[in-house]
Amino acid sequence: MNQQQFNQQLCEFLDAATTPFHAVAEMAGRLEAQGFTALQEDASWDLQAGGKHFVIRNGSSIVAFVIGSQSPPVEGMRMVGAHTDSPCLMVKPVPEVTRQGYFQLGVEVYGGVLLNPWFDRDLSLAGRVAYQCEDGQLRTALIDYREAVATIPSLAIHLDKEANKSRSINPQKDILPLLCQSGDDDKPDFRDLLKSRLLQEHPDCAVQQVLDYELAFYDSQAAAIIGLEREFIAGARLDNLLSCFTGLQALLRGDGTASALLVCNDHEEVGSLSAAGAQGPLLRSVLKRLAGHEQAYAALTDRSMMISADNAHGIHPNYADRHDDNHGPLLNRGPVIKINANQRYASNSETAGLFRMLAAAENVPVQSFVVRTDMACGSTIGPLTAAETGIKTIDVGVPTFAMHSIRELAGRWDGYYLYRALREYFK
Ligand SMILES: [Zn+2]
Repeated sequence: MNQQQFNQQLCEFLDAATTPFHAVAEMAGRLEAQGFTALQEDASWDLQAGGKHFVIRNGSSIVAFVIGSQSPPVEGMRMVGAHTDSPCLMVKPVPEVTRQGYFQLGVEVYGGVLLNPWFDRDLSLAGRVAYQCEDGQLRTALIDYREAVATIPSLAIHLDKEANKSRSINPQKDILPLLCQSGDDDKPDFRDLLKSRLLQEHPDCAVQQVLDYELAFYDSQAAAIIGLEREFIAGARLDNLLSCFTGLQALLRGDGTASALLVCNDHEEVGSLSAAGAQGPLLRSVLKRLAGHEQAYAALTDRSMMISADNAHGIHPNYADRHDDNHGPLLNRGPVIKINANQRYASNSETAGLFRMLAAAENVPVQSFVVRTDMACGSTIGPLTAAETGIKTIDVGVPTFAMHSIRELAGRWDGYYLYRALREYFK
């Protein structure tokens, strides 16, 4: 796969993976197409050398793995981690609001959303819906409107002269997406709207009534390669679907001799503490089953390594003082090793050294990031996974701009560089 093919497929993945549920469904489809089989957590597993499998939890987290020629406790697993979720606006349980003849939906803010860029975008809506069937059973299905069905219009500057200086955003009041015009009497029932959408996308679903849902708005603008020299990739959810996609491509193209694993967790943006999150038991439970018993599990975790891949902050030319002078990663200059003495990142000299050697073997440049000493450091699934499993870990990621905006920006080369380093790692 060359750089053009990589980015073309990355854009298609970003456009299809509009929610963590859709991201996992997309990854499962690609895995199945390459001979991976789905395992159920409540069934017994037949794990043999050469086996290629995946496990899904909550529809929004996935662990995919290849069993190499040596058993995992003997040789260890080469693991890559990323997260499937991105900051967004999620529909409230009783969402219908009509004001001034407009039908709007109440939203909750999921994760650390950069709110300003959500105004004046063509928004669509996607997620998971739970419904009762005509036979009385509870079922769930994914829906995605795929086209612009809502928008959050800005207040005109004429009505707020201070807008460019001091406009702040009240998330309860200012960001309700507007869907259509309607009066109080003919106000749509949101669950009825969802029922017709369900029937449209899943004509055989026999839905009697929609019970509940996890639905998020997203930008309907497709991801694109942009810039005068087409050096950049712009798109929603680059944090962290870029890493999910990159890890997946590296896993799919491994030669199968070494045991390799990809874990993509939901709920990173809200702290990872959930049944499907990195602070939950999913990965540990899979590794225990791969090991078989407690002593083998200890050997497996001792001999394994995790590359936690999540985007880094590139140094922004308009705000260069937000970075340490010696640690300002540039776009298209390679993946970034993230270091933090206070363990907000899990990298240590041993894991960082190994990553540098992997990158050098593929002629991939590497950059370093530490946060300014007078600023607080972000974190990712790396330290949590390391703490949950005891596996030595490194935090890396491609440099980006506008992290947590509705449209983020990365360099065209960096995802591909990371892919090559991970492919080398899985060999
Ligand atoms: Zn992230």
